[in-house]
Amino acid sequence: MAYEKLKEEIILYSKEIGIDKIGFASAAPFSQLKARLEEQQELGYASGFEKGTIEERTEPTRLMKGAESIIAIALAYPTRIKNGPKSVKGDRRGMFCRASWGTDYHIVLEEKLTKLADFINQKIDGFAYRSMVDTGELSDRAVAERAGIGFSGKNTLMISPELGSYIYLGEMITNIPFQPDLPLDDGCGDCTKCLDACPTGALVEPGRLNAQQCLAFLTQTKGFMPDEHRDKLGNLIYGFETCQVVCPYNKGVDLHYHKEFEPDPDLVKPRLVDLLKITNREFKEKFGKMSGSWRGKKPLQRNAILALAHYKETSALGELIRLMEEDPRPVIRGTAAWAIGKIGIEEGFEKIKEAMVKENDKEVIEEMKKGLAFQK
Ligand code: SF4
Repeated sequence: MAYEKLKEEIILYSKEIGIDKIGFASAAPFSQLKARLEEQQELGYASGFEKGTIEERTEPTRLMKGAESIIAIALAYPTRIKNGPKSVKGDRRGMFCRASWGTDYHIVLEEKLTKLADFINQKIDGFAYRSMVDTGELSDRAVAERAGIGFSGKNTLMISPELGSYIYLGEMITNIPFQPDLPLDDGCGDCTKCLDACPTGALVEPGRLNAQQCLAFLTQTKGFMPDEHRDKLGNLIYGFETCQVVCPYNKGVDLHYHKEFEPDPDLVKPRLVDLLKITNREFKEKFGKMSGSWRGKKPLQRNAILALAHYKETSALGELIRLMEEDPRPVIRGTAAWAIGKIGIEEGFEKIKEAMVKENDKEVIEEMKKGLAFQK
């Protein structure tokens, strides 16, 4: 079969450059996905972070003329921090989810895909390709599923039987008609652990996510956190992974295959109060290389305030009062007012009342009222 040898060489080379799993799929339209995406949109379940039209997201030939196949890759990331700093009363720390540890995975996977493309380029003439990682039009999960990287779990994530679901995915559309690999069988069976554990009911049915209710998505929004979800984040300031933590395929999985993804304990568990004081420049220098910084500092600061409220961290009261009184961003002023109320100290309630007299923003005033409602 033509290109069979090249495919074998690519697989061998992929191991050399640290790709943990590779698969090949046809570039035919993703018709089932198309119907599903249309449904998601109609139901209002989409996140709004998706790139491109539904047609572009499901028809590879719209993204690259002459598309014949798609090469899918997966890289595993670690799940445990060695010697992480403790979060204790008076010195509370937040937590970035595992997918955000280490160097931004977009950079790492794009480098691997570029190496792979250079390798193929040396082997044949007329090679054309287009790579993408997460933020491209294609659904990484649908491609990986078709290429046999894993199966799509009821938690809507790609699960590799060998690596679990703590994996990053990327793909390369090519003009070479590689022999496709076979998709894997569904591996969830009767299990419903992820659906049962989701604290917001965002997994509305097996394999269907309402992104608008998903805490991982909500940690990345820039507005106010919906009231009913404020207590559910604990100390998480970016991402949410309960549907992965409970999955039996991830039990005991902690793969340290790539030095780039090793967490810096102080970065992935930052001091919450320090995060509230950080300047734009310091934020860029410190967190700029992490994927969790992609929405800027505001959502992380809002979440840090919610985490301090969760802990009822009285030592943070002074900083929260400063934010409520002085921060130019209504979301931060309002969330700080709510958190001060939740902490529940008399001095805090008095400060909310004083600030409310001077506040002009309607939404912030609403948050101040909610803060005062904690007063018994
Ligand atoms: Fe599938 Fe169970 Fe994992 Fe959910 S928790 S993805 S149902 S195996």
